[in-house]
Amino acid sequence: MVTAARLAECRSVDVTGTAQHEAWSARAVPPVEQLRADLWSIPVPMDGPLRYVSVYAFALDGGGLGLLDTGWESDEGWAALTAGLASIGGGITDVRGVLVTHLHFDHLGLAERVRQTSGAWVAMHPADAAIVGSPVHRAPAASIAAEVAFLVSLGADPGDAASDVGHPEKFVPYSRMAIPDRLLEDGEHADFPGWRMRAIHTPGHTPGHLCFAEERTELFFSGDHVLPRISPNISTTHDGTPNPLGDYLRSLRAVSATEPAEVLPAHEWRFRGLADRTGQLHEHHEHRLTELLDAIRAHPGSTPWQLAAHLTWSRPWDQYERRMRIFAVTETDAHLRLLATRGLVASCGGPVPTWTLSVR
Ligand SMILES: [Zn+2]
Repeated sequence: MVTAARLAECRSVDVTGTAQHEAWSARAVPPVEQLRADLWSIPVPMDGPLRYVSVYAFALDGGGLGLLDTGWESDEGWAALTAGLASIGGGITDVRGVLVTHLHFDHLGLAERVRQTSGAWVAMHPADAAIVGSPVHRAPAASIAAEVAFLVSLGADPGDAASDVGHPEKFVPYSRMAIPDRLLEDGEHADFPGWRMRAIHTPGHTPGHLCFAEERTELFFSGDHVLPRISPNISTTHDGTPNPLGDYLRSLRAVSATEPAEVLPAHEWRFRGLADRTGQLHEHHEHRLTELLDAIRAHPGSTPWQLAAHLTWSRPWDQYERRMRIFAVTETDAHLRLLATRGLVASCGGPVPTWTLSVR
């Protein structure tokens, strides 16, 4: 999941997915597109501001199809994926393997239905596989309790946190997502015959996020790690790593060294100019870190929940919908954790830490 809460302005990316970009302007879902002789993008619609996930379908040597990501689990999503595959002369039963960039519902959601229908394998990075398969994640009530406790530790009112997170029933679909049967570590190649899909571990958006560099075509599949218009949500979570923004900035550097022929993201549109785009995203976070330091200077001894209200967002804080506030607060917490590793801020510790500038 990605939030459009803050836009990292797009100055220099060269849009190659022009049909996707036009569809965006028209507030429509783009068409299925053939990108190479043996590669297609299939948009699978979802609720929310991003509107769709691009599922990539690969024709494999020896027959059959490989998928990269699957889309949001819903009957509408399933219908779009099925129709998309039919339009390229295939079907779900042709799928041999599914690569998943990360554990979010818009990417992993439909994988279980694909696997049950086709017998395909499902592969992810071990760090995301561990979260999806964890006992807390498989038990809706435990997941809800963990999330509420986490928000309270960031300064949320316990009653508000419980009502924002909602009923365990809501979490049932997440708790049933596919547990992968194959694991892919950084540098390993996916089992897509005829392709050279090298996995690149890019933690930050999630602990096990994977990008893929296709070495035959020099295409780069960026998942949610690098998108052309918005800055992906980088948040702390109850089951994540201690410094996700530090991980993310390192992961941006890890993918900026070589310039691929084209970047194929999971949302928005295809583009060229990966190094420039990673530079913009880096700059965007440095700017936010400075803004947060100023807020802590002006309001020492505040919780992440309180500090988030002092930052600028895409709309005024008091008009921000509750669910969006949670993303804003967990993002603020991720920025606090990075400032702490730089020695610039310190927390008082305890069950609900508050933050002040470090004495230097
Ligand atoms: Zn996504």
